[in-house]
Amino acid sequence: MKSSILNADLHCHSVVSDGTLTPEALARRAQLNGVELWSLTDHDEIGGQTAAQLAAKSMGLSYLTGVEISVSFASKTVHIVGLGFDPNNAQMQAGLKATRGGREERAKEMSQQLERVGIANAFEGALQYAGNPDLISRTHFARHLVQSGVCQDTSEVFRRFLTPGHPGFVEHRWASLSDAVTWIRQAQGVAVIAHPGRYDFTPNEEFALFTEFKAHGGQAIEVVTGSHTPDEYVEYAAMAQEFDLAASRGSDFHSPSESRIDLGALPWLPGALTPVWELLEDRVL
Ligand code: AMP
Ligand code: MN
Ligand code: MN
Ligand code: MN
Repeated sequence: MKSSILNADLHCHSVVSDGTLTPEALARRAQLNGVELWSLTDHDEIGGQTAAQLAAKSMGLSYLTGVEISVSFASKTVHIVGLGFDPNNAQMQAGLKATRGGREERAKEMSQQLERVGIANAFEGALQYAGNPDLISRTHFARHLVQSGVCQDTSEVFRRFLTPGHPGFVEHRWASLSDAVTWIRQAQGVAVIAHPGRYDFTPNEEFALFTEFKAHGGQAIEVVTGSHTPDEYVEYAAMAQEFDLAASRGSDFHSPSESRIDLGALPWLPGALTPVWELLEDRVL
């Protein structure tokens, strides 16, 4: 497991959050695509972990527990992936429950904003796509806006709606960076900054994020992810080395029809980096 040449896919979503496949179907797809080490990382929710772990085990596929926690940092939403933690940890479970808590209210406000621009009943529409009503997300609104013909595809949705400055965007207070990293750490997991290239931070804000993340005990960043361009693989490989952080690899797969990069279909992690799985050898199930 020491090598960077390992088909590890440590970031994807099931129907337990905003993916369209069950944990079992994802496990099967991962295995068919040649994944050697897998993790299901639903947003703010670990309800799919047992099913994912059992399915992986039945296929002889190595598995790490996973989650992607929504965090508010510098007036933006940042995602922190946790890997290899104990899913029965009570503090982690309570923290995730609190983080999920405001989603329904937020979704109703998003719907009211959409109503004002002539899109009625978006909350009810989005809810139909949510496999888990506790975890209604912008992705479910996006699917509804596409299926009801308001937009051609989800990228048009996020260009015209649901993002800052557009109808359907509601400021929301998620977990703090310190809380999210602490929940993961005290449940014996490793904290990873998800897709750092996606946040549009200034260099100063990004420096603050990396520095504070490390100070709280964070240990890795995603370098090769479906959310980065090839230029960003190079940029964040350098950042991992500069900040002495391990590197992760994950597709961020959500759906066969929506995701650009399939499970297991990423380039290798650059060889000079410390793969995050080196820190997690004793946590593999
Ligand atoms: P939420 O947690 O409700 O804010 O929803 C965030 C989710 O929306 C992300 O995890 C993505 O799945 C999806 N998303 C956000 N921005 C985009 C985008 N520009 N294109 C496609 N999906 C997006
Ligand atoms: Mn998502
Ligand atoms: Mn994310
Ligand atoms: Mn994700």
